[in-house]
Amino acid sequence: MMVRFHGVRGSTPTPGASTVRYGGNTSCVEVRLVDGSLLILDAGTGIRELGLSLTREGFSRPIHLLISHLHWDHILGLPFFAPIWRKETVLRVLPMLTEAQQAAAVAKTIFDGLHFPVRAECVPSQIEFLEEAESWRVGSALVRRVTLNHPGGAQGFRIDDADGRSLAYLTDNELSPPTPPQTTLDELARFSENVDLLIHDAQYVDEDFPLKKGWGHSTLWEVLELGHRANARHIALYHHEPTRDDDTLDALAQEVQQRLVERGSSTVATLAREGWVIDL
Ligand SMILES: [Zn+2]
Ligand SMILES: [Zn+2]
Repeated sequence: MMVRFHGVRGSTPTPGASTVRYGGNTSCVEVRLVDGSLLILDAGTGIRELGLSLTREGFSRPIHLLISHLHWDHILGLPFFAPIWRKETVLRVLPMLTEAQQAAAVAKTIFDGLHFPVRAECVPSQIEFLEEAESWRVGSALVRRVTLNHPGGAQGFRIDDADGRSLAYLTDNELSPPTPPQTTLDELARFSENVDLLIHDAQYVDEDFPLKKGWGHSTLWEVLELGHRANARHIALYHHEPTRDDDTLDALAQEVQQRLVERGSSTVATLAREGWVIDL
């Protein structure tokens, strides 16, 4: 399984000189399975560059799109994803978590004439919505989902490929929400058990609270705890707070390494950055 990060920022794009190293594009991760199938996790602004690279590559197989939820930062890039403007493209979208989200997705709300100038009926690609199921067979992998703790609802995914490699994608998720969680930290640890790569929203630090309690995100330290309990081989800290520049993220990355050493942990943790490729 090959994983490439095209957008690692949370909430809003952050272009500019102070964010060039980690990148300013919002959530989007490319996953290539052992059989060559393509899955895309979220359609934030990072999907624009991915679309250009797929065009250059001449990629012509079906594209599977897994959307965590419909907050802007997870769908904003979709109209600028070049393959949707080709009639040969088949885009298969996994069901959304809630009925309201599914209705908005099927109605292609972003293409309603209010949010974008071109309406849905003028988008030439073939967009298909997969049926509700316990799990989905996508190429060589099995895909399962889990409910996350996020205002309005969000879903996380686990991808188990035929060669035994696995990935969990959990964003946006508050591991210690102010009200009883939809899914507890221990349940998420079981869902993510023994994955090769755990990608999790790590937007906050302790100083962001109490203001941002209930906003639906986690601290880096809570994510490390989840990674330990899940026995994840590698943790990708993801969906960075838009106010943090490259130097601040570097300092946090150092603190992450210190905490892993203090704990005597064998888990690897990395602050995700745009362009990062990891072969599992
Ligand atoms: Zn988000
Ligand atoms: Zn969100």
